[in-house]
Order: sequence, then C-alpha cells, then structure tokens
Amino acid sequence: MENKSWTRIIKTDKNQRSRIAELSVRNKKIVTPLFMPVATQGSVKALSSDDLINVGTQCLLSNTYHLYLRPGLDVLKKFGGLGNFMRYPKAILTDSGGFQVYSLSRLRKITEQGVHFSSHIDGSSHFFTPEKVIDYESAINSDIWTHLDVCVKNPPQYSEAKEALRKTKLWAKRSIDHFKKITQEAEEKPKLMAIIQGSIFKDLRKEAIEYATELGFDGFALGGLSVGESKKEMFETLDYIMENIPKDRPVYFMGLGDPVDIWMATKLGVDMYDCVLPTRNARNGQALTTYGKVYIKNAQYKNDDTVLDNECDCYTCKNYSRSYISHLYKSGELLSHRLLSIHNIRFLLKQTDMMKKAINEDRFDESFNEFLNKYNQK
Ligand SMILES: [Zn+2]
Repeated sequence: MENKSWTRIIKTDKNQRSRIAELSVRNKKIVTPLFMPVATQGSVKALSSDDLINVGTQCLLSNTYHLYLRPGLDVLKKFGGLGNFMRYPKAILTDSGGFQVYSLSRLRKITEQGVHFSSHIDGSSHFFTPEKVIDYESAINSDIWTHLDVCVKNPPQYSEAKEALRKTKLWAKRSIDHFKKITQEAEEKPKLMAIIQGSIFKDLRKEAIEYATELGFDGFALGGLSVGESKKEMFETLDYIMENIPKDRPVYFMGLGDPVDIWMATKLGVDMYDCVLPTRNARNGQALTTYGKVYIKNAQYKNDDTVLDNECDCYTCKNYSRSYISHLYKSGELLSHRLLSIHNIRFLLKQTDMMKKAINEDRFDESFNEFLNKYNQK
C-alpha cells in the first residue's frame, strides 16, 4: 500500500530486537509496545469508555463476527461506527471473524469463496467472504483492519495447515484488492494487516510472511500461536517468524496476555498484543500484581488493609483495600469486576511502559529480569 510510513521506529534496544514505534492512523497516534484490551461486543467487560481512557488505553480490539451478529452493522452505520457508538475516541482494531467462526459457530463449511456458518446465538445461517468482511469493517469504521483467514485446530497436520494457508493467501489477495477499492477515496484511510498463519511449520510461516510482504499489507498479525502448542514450540516459531519478518511495519501477536509472555515476545521484536486475560481474570477474582497473582477470595485478604499492588497507580489501588475488594467479590458485587479489571489492565499497560523505558535505556534484559524476580517471588 502506498503508505507504510504510518510506522515510525523510534528506538530499538541495542542488545535486542525489542523496539518502540509510533503508529499514525487517521489522526490517532499509538505508541508500541502496545497492549489492547478486548471489547468483544463493543464493551471491555465491566468498564466504561471513561474507565478505559483513564486507565491509559490507546487502542482496543473488537470482533467483527460478534458485531455483525449483534447489534448488526446497520446499527453501527447509523452511529458512524463503533467508536461513536461506544463513545471511545481512541483507536480500534478489528479482527476479521475467522477465529470466531472457527471457535464459536456451528456447521461451518469452508469453500474457495468463503465460509458458511450458523450463528452461535440463534443458529441462523451466514456466509462470510473476504470482500464482505472488509465491507463489515468499513461499517464498524475501525482504524486497523484484518482480513478473513482460515483457522485450523491445533496441533494441525502439516497437510491441513498447508491447505489453510493456501486459502488464506487467496483470501488475503481478494481482501487487499477490495480494501484498496473501497478506501480509494477515503481521506483518512484505515490500515489493513495481514494474518500470518502456518502453525508451528517454519516453511509455511515463511511462505505466509513472503506473500503478505509482497501484497503490501500495513502490518503483520500473527495467528495460530498460543492456541494449544507448548511454550517451547510457540517461542521457537515466534523467534523464527521475527527473524524473517520485515522490520518496517508493526507485528501483532494475537491473543497473548500473560505478562511474562509479553515481555518475552517484545524481546523478540513483537509490537502489539491483545487478550481477554486481564478482564477474565478479574471476573474470576484474580489480580495481576508486581509480586505475582493475588486470588482475592483467599482468607488471608479478609482483613488486609493494604492495596492490591503498592507499585500500581490505578484508580483501584489509589482508593480501595484488598479487604474491601475481597468482600465485594465474595458478596457477588459487580463493582469487584470493575475494580479488578481496571487494575489488571493498568498492570499490563504498566508493563508496556516499563518495556519502553528499558528500550530507551538499552537495558531490556535487565528490566525483564527485574520484573521476573519480583513477579515470581511468591
Ligand atoms: Zn492497581
């Protein structure tokens, strides 16, 4: 595409591939390493857009599949897109629905043209094509788009992964052609990222990187990792991908949320992450803290007047004790979900701030070790 210049590499750590980049899209600036909370259905569970802004988010991820089914694209069009609908003024990235069609819907049938599926909500029949998904993202009016891809169950046979990649390549080409056509006249163009599939097979990953580079996508979203393979396989594959991927565009690891994994992936050069982990853990009464995980319902917190994490600057830690949050959680009070979600998202955003500081000072490894020493102390 004509403008790769949306990515400005600000600093690369002199000892590592880790880097700070500034992404400019539609008058919005995003600084990486970036963690994106997940607003599956146009809401990061339990949080308002004000909460998300106050906690320091720069970009959210939302799901084309879910928004298409509910509230429906006519509603989003009426409001001028998801950002206006949910009153979130910062950037939004949408995933294409490929993974949700695979993981949630029933009666899938994949053809050369697209994918037939039944809604997980009411069983109604739908047909997604690469072109339609691009049109849906246009209706959602998100800033960064991804294209429809074919997901396979993990771990796949080589032949299965190869066939999925073959279709994904065809769909990537159709997607980018359609994207160029419909955004031709747009004053503020969104960006389109390629989805890099290929499971743990290096030759397939290489092929995926090559076609995505050739077609000129604005960035690379890594799919099919952190979906059941071992950590060793995941990082070996990631290391290989990062060795072979162009350095002039952002790389996004889809679905990664464990803080240790995010440090590790950033060390290898990844720029962007999303995961439901901070909000899902919050709803399960689990807080991520500088000194490891806190299970707030444990008896030891009943009378604990300290805050969740004394190194945290979030709204929750400024105002509430572990004792109060423990009481809320055990009483089934919804406020516990909000307070823990605010804290957990802030915790991950703070990790990315610490990474930026470390990269600026060329001491990524030292900072990573300092983080690990505290986090694993329990
Ligand atoms: Zn906090």
